[in-house]
Amino acid sequence: QAKSAGRGVYRFFSPEMNRLAQDRLVLGAALRNALSTNSLNLHYQPQINLNSNTLHGVEALARWHDPEPGNIPPDRFIPLAEEIGLIDTIGKWSLRESCRQIAAWRSEGIPIPTVSVNLSPLHFNDSGLPGYVAGLLEEFNLPAACLTIEITESVMMDAGAETLRTLAKLHETGVGLSMDDFGTGFSSLSSLTRMPITELKLDRSFMRNFETDPSVQAVAATVVGIGLSLGMTVVSEGVENENQARLLRRLNCTVAQGYYFARPMEACDIERWICATRLDDTAPLNISA
Ligand code: C2E
Ligand code: MG
Ligand code: MG
Ligand code: MG
Repeated sequence: QAKSAGRGVYRFFSPEMNRLAQDRLVLGAALRNALSTNSLNLHYQPQINLNSNTLHGVEALARWHDPEPGNIPPDRFIPLAEEIGLIDTIGKWSLRESCRQIAAWRSEGIPIPTVSVNLSPLHFNDSGLPGYVAGLLEEFNLPAACLTIEITESVMMDAGAETLRTLAKLHETGVGLSMDDFGTGFSSLSSLTRMPITELKLDRSFMRNFETDPSVQAVAATVVGIGLSLGMTVVSEGVENENQARLLRRLNCTVAQGYYFARPMEACDIERWICATRLDDTAPLNISA
């Protein structure tokens, strides 16, 4: 078709598009290389239980530090990995690395109840996923509660019988299943009841205008209420100030996560952060919200 537009006219492949395709090729090759040279790592962001002021868990977030392409954020390299067939490798790596890390923390006596791992929708087409997860729990001698798997609404929306079976099997292993970025997609509320979801994460966008707009608060209150009434843990992400934390606590939101409490950080900084906030089973986190 490009040809029929005339000799030398490549309508569908403008220089700009060529450049983008070229960038993707280069970046894709760099990502493949990063995986084989261990240039990906995980940062961890604390999640705070608002009822008890204790650490609920940490979310593992992938980071790619490379001198060559520079720091590429996950919002860029995760979609790329999905496109070029690397997402399965990344998902398995982040599950394994998270399990290794929480097992290491536990053996050092650092009390981190659970680590949340983000998985792409593509993983849930893989009927081998529950077996892989069960194998990791066994390998690292972890109670299943130590692992929470975050899924996005699109998994729920497109879920066929196979995906539902995979989710059910994961649930049987005892790991947590968290619905990430809830409220951004178009999934029906009734589909929440069809799936073995244990945790609901309100999308960060709820925090925009949260303190000032009563209608945003009303919607957030309703969503928190739905999650709680379904027996789920409700997590708010993107909490950036004390006011938001205070309001969320008033709504009985279970857990909060965001820059107000802590940024995502290296595993060793998590240890330091916990010590600095004097976190242990008896002393509550000193957060005045
Ligand atoms: P997410 O799972 O919704 O993660 C939350 C994002 O919000 C993270 O961005 C985190 O750094 C950021 N964040 C946390 N607190 C605050 C806050 O108070 N304010 C603001 N403005 N942002 C905050 P990040 O690390 O850039 O990750 C972006 C997305 O990339 C994640 O969104 C997740 O969907 C995806 N992602 C990250 N790591 C992985 C991974 O290992 N596998 C997969 N499949 N996806 C991942
Ligand atoms: Mg997440
Ligand atoms: Mg999220
Ligand atoms: Mg998000």
